[in-house]
Amino acid sequence: MHCNVNLKYGVIMKKDCYTIRISLKPGFINAEQLRAIADVIERYGKDKAHITTRQGIEFDISPENFKDVNDILKKVGLNIGSTGNRVRQVVSCIGLRCYNAIGDSVSLARRIHEEFEGIWVPKKVKINVSGCPNSCTYHKFCDIGVCYRYKISIDKNLCNNCGKCKDFCDVNAIDWENKVIHENCIGEGRCTALCNSFKAERVISIFVGGKGGRIWKEGKELISLKNEEDVLLVIDEILLSYSKFGHGRITDFVDSVGIENLRQTIIKKLKN
Ligand code: SF4
Ligand code: SF4
Repeated sequence: MHCNVNLKYGVIMKKDCYTIRISLKPGFINAEQLRAIADVIERYGKDKAHITTRQGIEFDISPENFKDVNDILKKVGLNIGSTGNRVRQVVSCIGLRCYNAIGDSVSLARRIHEEFEGIWVPKKVKINVSGCPNSCTYHKFCDIGVCYRYKISIDKNLCNNCGKCKDFCDVNAIDWENKVIHENCIGEGRCTALCNSFKAERVISIFVGGKGGRIWKEGKELISLKNEEDVLLVIDEILLSYSKFGHGRITDFVDSVGIENLRQTIIKKLKN
């Protein structure tokens, strides 16, 4: 089926139908909302919906049914959206319901979604939030990735040079002789269970410039923060600069301004 233009937010207008995309809040959906979706697809959507790769739901309807569908969804707090050159529905892993979680990714993803979803930007912006470096949301392969992790250090006063940790780390991030943790540390914190000398500080790392698709790209770490408020501030600043100076996707913007320049702008903003 040929797609013409996307005139309404959350609606992909096709020759003979509208594809409606629901912009779901990250994390979970309630029974009333699921019932409303079931009702809508049964009555107007050929009894069929597609679960999108970004945790959304979409289905086809006849254009004349758009108002009815929109009204039913609105009544249960569901919005049509997540298309076009906008900040798309934010994606989250299951967060604190997972035993690996380092932070509450669902709650943070919801805050980011409430604050930024739907705003106009030069090209679509995808934001994914992972509760730990296991990366269940592939946060390094979207425009802005957020990940709870640990910054690890070695307490020199506690280390007795036993060498037990010498070959422990999968990515060889531990320099046990100099008591240094290298930059390539993943930050899941396995080493803290091995020895009390390893100290872990919880941080929230922000990655920018990743993308999936045919020519995928891994995002670069921009900054690590201690609290969720600062995450919102940093995303605000990235989107502001991108909207002012960006043309292509965020990856092109990061390449053009340089990650270090962007980092310095962000650090300045955080200090004010
Ligand atoms: S990213 Fe981590 S916290 Fe989130 S679901 Fe995956 S393993 Fe669990
Ligand atoms: S947190 Fe993981 S990657 Fe980092 S030093 Fe410890 S074991 Fe290695």
